[in-house]
Amino acid sequence: MARELARRSLPSGRIARVVMSEAIDGDASDGAAIGGPEGSLAGCLITASSATKLRQVHGADVVVVDAPGACKGSVADAAVTDVVGAHLVIQVADCVPVALLGDCSVGVVHAGWRGLRAGVLERTVEALTTVDGTVSVSAVVGPHIGPCCYEFGEDGLIDLAAQFGPSVRSKTIDGGSALNLSAVVASVLERAQVPVAFDGACTSCDDRYWSFRATGTPRRQAMVAWLEEG
Ligand SMILES: [Zn+2]
Repeated sequence: MARELARRSLPSGRIARVVMSEAIDGDASDGAAIGGPEGSLAGCLITASSATKLRQVHGADVVVVDAPGACKGSVADAAVTDVVGAHLVIQVADCVPVALLGDCSVGVVHAGWRGLRAGVLERTVEALTTVDGTVSVSAVVGPHIGPCCYEFGEDGLIDLAAQFGPSVRSKTIDGGSALNLSAVVASVLERAQVPVAFDGACTSCDDRYWSFRATGTPRRQAMVAWLEEG
């Protein structure tokens, strides 16, 4: 079942909430699980009008959501808001879902290796800092594919290690060359001085989650982040 990755009182007095759905909650890519008529997730009412779902393209564009449901369908891979009740939705099935928490705002990021190379995470930290006026950003990372299951070509690993450091190299459970996406995210956030808490689940190993790598599924789980009045 969907579970809460974070519920945090922010310095502004607002409450930031971050929820992650699982396969059992339905396919977040078709609108049934989130924003559909049934629109609830972990007991939180998330309606079609309040949810901002993006058209994700593994790029680095970030939208600033200035009203509940604004920017829905925008071609972007990240969103930030300082508006209470605006539900920011990221769909994933192996890529890394990242939530960013500021003093009075929240953000979400769809972070696969292409988007990370393009700087989507740095750009979202910058956007949140601008919207929020704070420098005290923190991050929460949800389930994504682990190096155990993420075989990756050597050429790509050379480029990624040059950009993010040698810790991004790993081995699969079979001993093949693998990419450690957690290490890429950790590298970016360390440089940005953003503390981060990781969820340890691997979407490929763990049957609770959809995994594109494991099954080729078009289905997705979702991370949803939003603000409530304290
Ligand atoms: Zn795995």
